[in-house]
Amino acid sequence: MNTRNPRNGQKDYFFSAVTADELSTLCQQLKVAQISWNENGLAARIEALQEWKKLIEDEKPALLKALQNDTGRSWETKLEIDLFFSSIDRWCKQAEDFFYPTSKKKTQIPFIQLQQDWVPFALVGVISPWNFPLLLSLIDTIPALLTGCSVIVKPSEVTPRFIEVMNRSIAKVPELRKVLRYIAGDGTTGSALIGEVDLVCFTGSTETGRKVNAAAAARMIPVFLELGGKDPAIVLSSADLDVAAASICWGGTANAGQSCLSIERVYVHEVIAEEFITKLTHLVSQLRLNDKKIDEGEIGPIIFEKQVQIINEQLEDALKKGAKIIAGGQCCELINGGYYCHPTILINVNHTMKIMQDETFAPILPIMTFDNKEEAIRLANDSIYGLSGAVFAGSTEEAIEVGSQITGGAISINDAALTAIMHEGEKASFKLSGIGGTRMGAAAIKRFLRQKVYIINESKEPSPWTTQQQRKD
Ligand code: NAD
Repeated sequence: MNTRNPRNGQKDYFFSAVTADELSTLCQQLKVAQISWNENGLAARIEALQEWKKLIEDEKPALLKALQNDTGRSWETKLEIDLFFSSIDRWCKQAEDFFYPTSKKKTQIPFIQLQQDWVPFALVGVISPWNFPLLLSLIDTIPALLTGCSVIVKPSEVTPRFIEVMNRSIAKVPELRKVLRYIAGDGTTGSALIGEVDLVCFTGSTETGRKVNAAAAARMIPVFLELGGKDPAIVLSSADLDVAAASICWGGTANAGQSCLSIERVYVHEVIAEEFITKLTHLVSQLRLNDKKIDEGEIGPIIFEKQVQIINEQLEDALKKGAKIIAGGQCCELINGGYYCHPTILINVNHTMKIMQDETFAPILPIMTFDNKEEAIRLANDSIYGLSGAVFAGSTEEAIEVGSQITGGAISINDAALTAIMHEGEKASFKLSGIGGTRMGAAAIKRFLRQKVYIINESKEPSPWTTQQQRKD
């Protein structure tokens, strides 16, 4: 398969997808190896992951280069790599806290005791998207490994270059290489993978999520879906407008808006709207494209070519229905073979427009005004998605009061898009943004375990219910 470079449009990378037979054989090997990976205990698993962390340091330049070629951007890639390193330490600590030794528990029946146990799923399949290729391929993988599962990861075919580097570093850790493998392939490979694994963690579009959900249901295996978003930000009249403008500028334009958790809709109180829009426009207009040099400029190219059409259609639809552009451009621009979307602010928008309803995945901030909190909440909740959001107010209490009424799993208070940085809070994805338990925080570990109990009769006598007399009565 040929892969396009998002900076110049050239198909400069080729990879072969694994065949169904290769996939099947690999999955069987990973399942066999999982038994001793689990039996060897948490300390051995932590040691293997820490060894991997050291070895991947040597691969950092190669990893950076591959990911930069995959995505065409630089600082977000460095952030991804840093978050990967720190996540290994965080998960190791959280796993140690989670797997504390348990003692027997008394029950209502005096001679019966319980001993709780956990049994990991043998093989977890991780299917990930192109927008944060490294981070989203690892966010479920590391806790699953620590839990005692084997993991097979299939990143997006749009960003496959880093797979080689990952497998090279994994191969250097004898214990890890038996239980962790990255594979290259497209949707067909992803679909075949669901046929082999015992649990699926999928991050991607809601459209594909439906297919993954159906395929997992047919096999009766657990599935965790992290899907699209259309995150709102609400700016109340009491908010600090410098903080709100800076946060929304960052939350809406980081990674050129190509994040599920990007701020894609802004609702601002009408009394402060003019001042807020002036501040936001000032910040947005300072952002530069990175078309000349990857390290110079905050806004990278649109990674996936097909997204360009969606962005342009949404802008066209909005303009046709009366929206006004006060910063940015009317469509994506083709520069030296790469597509770029200038950071854009739209006013005069409303909820009949696609740009207020559908996921855009671009650095575009459409702004609406409101005159009371109820209206702001109603607008924020008028979406098929419920991933996350942001509220800006003069006090934490006021912001949380509004945030509590937003249908979404994570609300940043006086900041935006904090789930990009902070993975310690436990959150679900609401509505069409996903199903399944939290992938963040200590509770995420539970997803990879089945509960098992030993029900222990400590009496030396036969139990009363086994006596013939009791059965006759
Ligand atoms: P996508 O759904 O097109 O692809 C995601 C992955 O699924 C890829 O690896 C792809 O090869 C694979 N795939 C495609 N068809 C499949 C099938 N039938 N069975 C199994 N696997 C299949 O998504 P994308 O375009 O790569 O990513 C962008 C989307 O991801 C956006 O909607 C974004 O909001 C979402 N996303 C969500 C989160 C989150 O945490 N909620 C995070 C990042 C991205």
